[in-house]
Amino acid sequence: MPAQFTQLTSHLWVTQSALFATNSGVFLSGDEACLIDPGIAPETIEDIARFVTEQGATPRAIVLTHAHWDHVMGPEHFPGVPVIAHAEYLRVLREHGADLYRQIDAWEAQAHIRRLRPFLLPRPTYTFATALTLTLGDIRLRIFHAPGHALDQCAVYHAESATLWAADMLSDIEIPLVLSLSAYEQTLAHLATPDLRMLVPGHGAPTTDAGEIRRRLAVDRAYLAELRERVTAAVAAGRTLAETAAACSDVPLPCPCDDPTPHMWNVESAYAELGGQVEGLVGWEREWST
Ligand SMILES: [Zn+2]
Repeated sequence: MPAQFTQLTSHLWVTQSALFATNSGVFLSGDEACLIDPGIAPETIEDIARFVTEQGATPRAIVLTHAHWDHVMGPEHFPGVPVIAHAEYLRVLREHGADLYRQIDAWEAQAHIRRLRPFLLPRPTYTFATALTLTLGDIRLRIFHAPGHALDQCAVYHAESATLWAADMLSDIEIPLVLSLSAYEQTLAHLATPDLRMLVPGHGAPTTDAGEIRRRLAVDRAYLAELRERVTAAVAAGRTLAETAAACSDVPLPCPCDDPTPHMWNVESAYAELGGQVEGLVGWEREWST
């Protein structure tokens, strides 16, 4: 089925992949386009390229919000288009490149995707430490570091429309996946400041509902606060990781979630971060290394 494009603001269009309800963005201004995490499956990426052409525009930049495999498949279809990522993206590639190739191979085998040439992880043309402003036609996009879910994660803000592309945060279908609790808390505190009119998560439903935007911020922050409180108490009491996991099993989750595993990996990651004794990799460090 061809990709469907929904216009969210006067400058932003989105299409959603069936896999993980992953959103890909197209910011358009004049004859210039900026693509955000463009597609996973090759046909979706080709549909995005066609859509941009139909709008009379040319891709001027691709933003990769972070180096998780489901966000980095697009750039090979846009040769010569500059790729923007956070500086930490390069470190993630160095340390986890082999893991990413393994995850992509596994998905492509399962999805029966045949390649004429091997996939190469995209290398950014431009990286930044704190923030970067991209001028696109007559609009400006602020791309800024937003770590927590991943250490290299960045988000995109368009001030005139108060639009936030939140990368893998503030979803209605996915609880926060927390690699670094402290970083995630700081990032959400920062995002709670501007009055947002449009919120687009990396996975799930975009929303313009001010109440829903506030709700997502509040429930995700409450979840992180509860996680910190329970794990801190467990570490202080000398509890093992297994005892801590049991003590955190009834933490209220910010959205319905049939699978308890992501929450348990959050607990494991937080336990290691907050001083609990662990052997080897635990939580998301382990999950994203397999
Ligand atoms: Zn991710």
